[in-house]
Amino acid sequence: MRANRVLVLNSGSSSVKYQLLDMRDASRLAVGLVERIGEETSRLVHTPLTGGGKRERIGSIADHSAALKALAEELTQDGLGLDSPELAAIGHRVVHGGLKFTAPTVITDEVLAEIERLIPVAPLHNPANITGIRTAQALRPDLPQVAVFDTAFHTTMPESAARYAIDVETADAHRIRRYGFHGTSHAYVSRQTAALLGKDPSEVNVIVLHLGNGASASAVAGGRCVDTSMGLTPLEGLVMGTRSGDIDPAVTFHLKRVAGMSADDIDELLNKKSGLLGLCGDNDMREIRRRIDEGDERARLAFEIYIHRLKKYIGAYYAVLGRVDAIAFTAGVGENAAPVREAAIAGLEELGMTLDPELNAERSDRARIISAASARVAVAVVPTDEEMEIARQTFALVAPEGE
Ligand code: ADP
Repeated sequence: MRANRVLVLNSGSSSVKYQLLDMRDASRLAVGLVERIGEETSRLVHTPLTGGGKRERIGSIADHSAALKALAEELTQDGLGLDSPELAAIGHRVVHGGLKFTAPTVITDEVLAEIERLIPVAPLHNPANITGIRTAQALRPDLPQVAVFDTAFHTTMPESAARYAIDVETADAHRIRRYGFHGTSHAYVSRQTAALLGKDPSEVNVIVLHLGNGASASAVAGGRCVDTSMGLTPLEGLVMGTRSGDIDPAVTFHLKRVAGMSADDIDELLNKKSGLLGLCGDNDMREIRRRIDEGDERARLAFEIYIHRLKKYIGAYYAVLGRVDAIAFTAGVGENAAPVREAAIAGLEELGMTLDPELNAERSDRARIISAASARVAVAVVPTDEEMEIARQTFALVAPEGE
């Protein structure tokens, strides 16, 4: 029997998101989440998509190993056990692949060691990803494990976009450069956008706006990323749910010298207490829109700052690309928040971008065009699917077509 299933694992410091997919028809067999790992009230939510409803377990799940065992038990209960010969590989989301990993990679001891070497540039993410990989290897040592890197899609950025204008020796000694993140999503969405236009990715230039709790923009020319808004870490760029995005770096030394904050304090301020949350106390765009409707000024200002930054990136990437065929909105905010899309595109008629208000207001989970028929640049909403993309890349590596 040919093995056709891929398990996708996205391991965070206290959570594991997972999906089991059947690659014959790219269908999902089960999806789930284990959260609050290490706490008394850990929670596992498992949804089989082959029949039967959602199941939930609450109770202590001590570590990632226990989390993986628990999710494996759930899959076994659905007849989808991880010991099945139908499982072809496990695909892991790995946040930081540095410069070395430009494509999905079968995990060996050397690969794992290199992911470990990148911990200083991804202190929050890579350790959790490594734990997930080690745990999965212990569970199925015989199975190929593949790392799919968030940074890989951005490794095509030219040096002019990837380098910061700082002392080259210092930058190189500490691997300081712009890596970009959300690459799996930008890759998937830019390809889907080309498909929506009935074109090959090599024929189109696309601006992708991934607007979730974390948010990033990318400029994709003929299927290759030429610029993206996140940098050494996911802090740079757009205003996000809790991250400031672009800021004068001098703010950080000012906070240290004048407010007496430590590097860790400033890290927490800019990553966890800034962005929409810092501006108005809420990071959920639905809540912000509700407050604006009630006349709340702080929420309105937060929204305006968010939109202003977004517009600046649209303009910048237009200039970087020279010609834009489409602009694609994706992730939680991009897919669902019509007012965000409306405000971001408003006033850009001279750039060839005009929305059709009715199409923009329509609710749908399909990829769709929402620009006016007369507009030169297609504006699209393209739901992202990072797990499907990780599974596709993993499967392509372990079971190449034609074998
Ligand atoms: P993450 O970065 O955590 O993966 P998502 O892509 O799931 O985030 O996006 C989460 C965000 O999407 C939420 O914080 C919320 O602001 C926004 N969102 C979800 N649904 C809607 C909606 N219907 N309208 C506006 N915003 C929404």
